Amino acid sequence: TEGTLANIVSHAKEYGFVFQSSEIYDGLGAVYDYGPNGVELKNNLKQLWWKAMTQLHQNVVGLDAAIFMHPLTWKASGHVDGFSDPMIDNLDSKKRYRADVLLEDRAAEHEKNGELARAETLLAEMGRLLTSEDLAGVRQLIIDEQIVCPISKTGNWTEVRQFNLMFSTQVGAVAEDSSLIYLRPETAQGIFVNFLNVQKSARQKVPFGIAQIGKAFRNEIVARQFIFRMREFEQMELQFFVRPGTEGEWYEHWKTMRRRWHEVMGLPADKLRFHDHDKLAHYAKAAVDIEYEFPFGFKEIEGIHSRGDFDLTQHQTLSKKKQQYFDADIDPETGKAYGNYVPFVVETSAGADRLFLATLCQAYQEETITEGEGDKEQTKTRTFLKLHPAVAPVKAAIFPLVKKDGMPEKATEIFNALRHDFRVIMEERDAIGKRYTRQDLIGTPFCIVVDGQTLEDDTVTVRHRDSREQTRMPIAELRAYIGEAVSF
Ligand code: ATP
Repeated sequence: TEGTLANIVSHAKEYGFVFQSSEIYDGLGAVYDYGPNGVELKNNLKQLWWKAMTQLHQNVVGLDAAIFMHPLTWKASGHVDGFSDPMIDNLDSKKRYRADVLLEDRAAEHEKNGELARAETLLAEMGRLLTSEDLAGVRQLIIDEQIVCPISKTGNWTEVRQFNLMFSTQVGAVAEDSSLIYLRPETAQGIFVNFLNVQKSARQKVPFGIAQIGKAFRNEIVARQFIFRMREFEQMELQFFVRPGTEGEWYEHWKTMRRRWHEVMGLPADKLRFHDHDKLAHYAKAAVDIEYEFPFGFKEIEGIHSRGDFDLTQHQTLSKKKQQYFDADIDPETGKAYGNYVPFVVETSAGADRLFLATLCQAYQEETITEGEGDKEQTKTRTFLKLHPAVAPVKAAIFPLVKKDGMPEKATEIFNALRHDFRVIMEERDAIGKRYTRQDLIGTPFCIVVDGQTLEDDTVTVRHRDSREQTRMPIAELRAYIGEAVSF
């Protein structure tokens, strides 16, 4: 069986995947730290994304832009004026909520009660009001729906206001000379302002893409659901530059590719779905989310957006620098080169942390097993992480059966032979069963046991995490065996 979110959160803490930030000071809301196993898992996910994007595509190259950018960037992108969420306060509890989230939760309740039409009407109405910026209408909808504050159970709401999500700080030592800058709320703009630098230096021709992984910051009002919504998080984005008029095909192409990637990474097809946006962001011509079914419902893990020439044109206007590409290919209709244009952009934007959470939720398994025989037979619950070996924090754990007879030395030899290729660990403490359990809990796919026979014939037992079966194998075959398992 699968775990609840509460199971996942406590497992993540106990086994070194995710800790609350600044926990000894009672934590900082919606900010989290990755522990020893978490950082390995997250790095593996990021590396696989990076490889799928850059190594597998001749026409996609990487970039690592700074978090700080010239303040005009965010004016051009529309974030200074338009990157906000509608917030509402409850007067009794003095708690702040996102108005759209209150309404979405209400729609989900209707859906749960079988009132599908009611849920749909509510979402459509909300979309209409938000698009036309009718904030009074949004408040009225909250009142009409008789939504109460979850804490004080009252419907005593303030007006709805727009709340900008960008964090700001100052650059410059002296207050008077300093200027206001922002922590980037998305990594995309670092790619757009470098579009020509990359295109020229990497000698790319349209269509081509720029991939980037990096931190982004948003002052989210609703901070809940663990690492699903954080104030500091990591994005993995591809901006793909295409000839105007071809964006529709590329949008479909990347939609298919990205969904397939999540399936290959181990998220089952029936727990993934596309969700078209009712309300488009200021930059978007078309937008779809890839959603995964978390224990708390289907939620976005990645967005695919057809951004048109919005961003490059805006940067061209504000920077007064041409953001054009010369396309020497011949247009069959005119018989002439396509010439100069501002390319259109198709974006795929995934959250590394949301992918991490989805992976963890998917991997978490509890099963009832029977151990021992006859009088000693007992049933117990086994918890393990069924992670793909490619993403597992530890690929193999090496155990000397006992701490004597040369077994630890032999185990060290194996450890030394494998450590350059894989992240392996050695464990001598406790009974073998306990050692297996510890590895199951962090998702280690293989446990290698050195026993008496090993000293005679250089074979070991390999215990498999998912089936708990053991196979005997020559030490010389271990590298190829693990290598095969951790590759796609
Ligand atoms: P949401 O509607 O959930 O706020 P969004 O539509 O604003 O997300 P995008 O701006 O499309 O998100 O960002 C792309 C991706 O970045 C999302 O699919 C998500 O995986 C990730 N992401 C966005 N905001 C957060 C956050 N606060 N915490 C963690 N990941 C985030």
